[in-house]
Amino acid sequence: MKNIFYSFPLKNETTFGINAIADEYISIESVQEAKDFFSIPSDKPYYILGGGSNILITKDVNGIIVQNKIKGISTSIIDDSTIHVTAGAGENWNEFVLYCIENNWGGLENLSLIPGNVGASPMQNIGAYGVEIKDVFVSLNALEIATNEIHTFENEACKFGYRESIFKNSHKNKFLIIDVTFKLTRKNHKISANYGAIQSELQKYNVTNPTIKDISKAVIAIRSSKLPDPKVIGNAGSFFKNPVISIKLADAIKLNYPDLVEYPIDETSTKLAAGWLIEKAGWKGFRDGDAGVHALQALVLVNYGNTTGNEILNLSQRIIDDIHSKFGVTLEREVNIW
Ligand code: FAD
Ligand code: NAP
Repeated sequence: MKNIFYSFPLKNETTFGINAIADEYISIESVQEAKDFFSIPSDKPYYILGGGSNILITKDVNGIIVQNKIKGISTSIIDDSTIHVTAGAGENWNEFVLYCIENNWGGLENLSLIPGNVGASPMQNIGAYGVEIKDVFVSLNALEIATNEIHTFENEACKFGYRESIFKNSHKNKFLIIDVTFKLTRKNHKISANYGAIQSELQKYNVTNPTIKDISKAVIAIRSSKLPDPKVIGNAGSFFKNPVISIKLADAIKLNYPDLVEYPIDETSTKLAAGWLIEKAGWKGFRDGDAGVHALQALVLVNYGNTTGNEILNLSQRIIDDIHSKFGVTLEREVNIW
């Protein structure tokens, strides 16, 4: 089998830039290669790798890293206003989004500039600026590692939730996602410009009737000004999910913190901005050795150079404990821990 490496260094394989070694590494470029590879049983565990932008490695990997590089984009016109676009798991997400926008296919523009590959997008139902992939997701094909059979999962079957899916839970490491199909608009695009940051960015260009290109441009500008570039400083984006809590608890927190930032969900629950809680607790810009909390965005933990995955994990636990003691809210990690 081609493309197999032993004692493979992982420093450049995740955006956190953590030093670790994997027993074995293989890159897969076609469905047939994947089937051939998984047809030979192994007693070592498999770890599926996409672009490495949502993984924290805390130890050497005693197993086989399988990196999915299956490419290709195909389309199927459904009607005058709808197109289904299928992309290989190994396609770069942002390049795929920009390709859709160039073709005037709407639906993914709010998700511009998210790092990583198409294959990982259903894993945590990636979302930004009020849009999640579940809004435009039709189905995916995935190879079941144990049986070497391809299964199709439609929207319902993926059990999408807030930064969640079946593939992050019961199906974790059991399926290799091969391709994903999205339902996009060819006209009458549904423009989603509710987030304050998008509105102020559009105002800067005097855009009152934004196109999908305008939204993408605004999102790219906001993200580039605010988020740390992993090529410059190691990180995996938001380390924690935004907690959804009861309105009762939010009201109790407001007695001490009247400026609490919240986004009501329904009559009984509300979403808090985890970044606000972490900043309020004094962690923004905190640094211990090479592990830290980003100075501009408290939700992002960073590697200033040579920190270990365990140092980042320990820092995240200190933050979880502190937020719990100050606000009575338990933060959950969003990043996948290896
Ligand atoms: P990886 O990190 O390689 O893998 C993530 C998980 O998916 C792992 O558990 C892995 O085993 C599994 N996996 C990967 N590919 C496959 C496959 N083909 N089959 C089966 N399992 C697979 N996320 C958001 O939701 N919204 C954002 O706005 C956002 N912004 C970010 C900004 C920055 C600066 C960074 C660094 C990250 C951000 N993220 C965001 C997180 C991350 O980019 C996404 O979760 C992305 O989808 C991860 O893709 P990846 O290919 O890098 O996956
Ligand atoms: P922000 O604009 O500073 O807002 C802070 C938080 O408030 C966000 O996390 C967002 O929740 C929530 N929020 C803001 N306006 C909202 C509205 N109108 N309705 C509902 N919720 C609202 O956030 P940011 O950190 O710069 O990120 C901007 C967007 O990119 C967010 O959607 C965020 O999820 C996404 N992002 C994700 C990652 C990641 O790694 N997962 C990294 C960077 C950015 P939501 O997160 O639920 O949208």
